Amino acid sequence: MDTNDFIIYRWNPKYVFKTKSTYFHLASSSWDFTNPCWTDIWKTRVPQRLRLFLWIAFRDRLMTNLERCRRSVGHHPYCTTCDTHDESTLHVLRDCKFAREVWLYFSPAVYSPTFFTESLQAWLLSNINCHDLVSDYSIPWSTIFVSILWQLWKAKNEHVFNSIPQSPTAVWNKGIFWAHCYMESFLPPLIRSPDSRSLHWTGPEPGWVCLNVDATVSASTSFGSVASLFRDQTGSWLSGFQKAIGVLRPLQAELWRYLLDFALFGIKALFLFRSNLTVLRQSSSLKPIMRI
Ligand SMILES: [Zn+2]
Repeated sequence: MDTNDFIIYRWNPKYVFKTKSTYFHLASSSWDFTNPCWTDIWKTRVPQRLRLFLWIAFRDRLMTNLERCRRSVGHHPYCTTCDTHDESTLHVLRDCKFAREVWLYFSPAVYSPTFFTESLQAWLLSNINCHDLVSDYSIPWSTIFVSILWQLWKAKNEHVFNSIPQSPTAVWNKGIFWAHCYMESFLPPLIRSPDSRSLHWTGPEPGWVCLNVDATVSASTSFGSVASLFRDQTGSWLSGFQKAIGVLRPLQAELWRYLLDFALFGIKALFLFRSNLTVLRQSSSLKPIMRI
């Protein structure tokens, strides 16, 4: 043909260089990127960093002791927690006694009967594709599952690299907290930030008492406490209390504060200002209350 020669890029159907085409060409020999399971990972309702973590775990490329030995950068493959098994991805995230204790905080009805017997990829896929709401939290199991995976991996690293031991309870609480925060980010703005009153204290009408209550749970120890403050329409302090309520979950702390408020004080009328609507949304037996 009477045309000049020109350079083409053979790995793209249109013979034009594309990074995507190049990556697919280079990676096609090591993994099947057309497998629909990868779509399942990227559709999981968790933060992007957890999706990336999930993708690495699915490919069995987490830098466990076993993987470090495989790459000739580790001295031994044993688990740093139990020291009885090779530290594989599945061992860190499920089979180690520490991880198992975390998972067993959930009711057996939450996860499948094969939860502790499936292979790594089958286990990850079956759980990230289970979007049933966990009744205690109204959060999809897939979101809670990945959040717990992430916290198990972080706990392992904190223990190994920073010598900070983590308790199964703390890991469980952090996983639930992450899942909860992520799901809250999807709430309509009106519910997440009800109105300016949530940012500025406003006194009640004359003759009424304003009750401000709050509960906290330590992320590291899981110890919780509740505190209440009563004020009149001028903002003058009337009464209040603070109580330690032991080791518990954030939702339990929220419920504790209601129980104590109503059990300890006989009040004919009060305003209830909430900084957190979660407990009202999660418990079907409770309805939002403005006046009691
Ligand atoms: Zn172990």
